[in-house]
Amino acid sequence: MQSTIVEIETEALESIEQAFDSVVLEQITIKYLGRKGILTGFLRNISSLSETERPDAGKNANILKEKLEKAIQTRQLKIEAQIDEDFQGIDVTLPGRFTRRGSFHPITQVAGEISDIFLRLGFDIAESPEVETDYYNFEALNIPKYHPARDMQDTFYVSENIVLRTHTSPSQPRVMEKTKPPVRIISPGKVFRCDSDITHTPMFHQVEGLMVDKNISFGDLKGILTTFIHQFFDMETSLRFRPSFFPFTEPSAEVDIRCVMCKGAGCRICSKTGWLEVLGSGMVHPAVFENVGYDTSQYTGFAFGMGIERLAMLKYGIDDIRKFFENDIRFLRQF
Ligand SMILES: [Zn+2]
Repeated sequence: MQSTIVEIETEALESIEQAFDSVVLEQITIKYLGRKGILTGFLRNISSLSETERPDAGKNANILKEKLEKAIQTRQLKIEAQIDEDFQGIDVTLPGRFTRRGSFHPITQVAGEISDIFLRLGFDIAESPEVETDYYNFEALNIPKYHPARDMQDTFYVSENIVLRTHTSPSQPRVMEKTKPPVRIISPGKVFRCDSDITHTPMFHQVEGLMVDKNISFGDLKGILTTFIHQFFDMETSLRFRPSFFPFTEPSAEVDIRCVMCKGAGCRICSKTGWLEVLGSGMVHPAVFENVGYDTSQYTGFAFGMGIERLAMLKYGIDDIRKFFENDIRFLRQF
């Protein structure tokens, strides 16, 4: 019996000495001195010993109990002293360092806003490659080689027949080749042109739109685009459709809105005209339909395209397109 008490003592004192924090120390206390603890159990069993063993065993167990309690107390004080020492010179009341929450880039936000409006109007989103063949970027859209319209777009050529797409329009033939009408898609994405100044960057973003079905007329084009402009800017925004030319639409129209800066009075932004061009559109040229095998006697449709940066600049009154790509956190944080 005596040896058991000695064993308990050695083991308990060793673990108390090694306890590195209050939680571990508490567990040791429970292990030996708790209601179901080892030493408590030993004391409870004393009554089962012979009368000659009983007095010594009881006495030794109680001595050990006191010894362990004292050792635990001493260890606890040491742990507390260590904590004080660790925090010496540290002001725990100072606010901590924190990481600012990120947010979507304004271009991503505006692209999302535009997409949401068209999704509500029943359009689907279609994606097409940024590195494109000459065929889809030009030929399929009724812009044959040596067509003067190719000069309108300063193209980055990867090789003779591979280009960085100059517009999102290649998504039109790509979708139509694989889909029978009705088609109702928008296609947002990056486009590339060899151009750089206050209103042009070599890479920018466009959203392309296409709607094809039986009996689609210019009236549908006007209706959809007017709804879009009203939802994107505001219901009071007046707009006009101005005749224009694109090789892949006939007739074609550019859409202007009342200048958002001067409300039509004339300012630097609108070159004193009171109007701002926001998108290009038109009825899909029959040659484009023929290239994808659509029956032009049955189907008609319209297409449109707009620059996302341009719309973002007008909506938020930003005067330099390059700000979107400088990654100045002070600028980006405003959105
Ligand atoms: Zn103006």
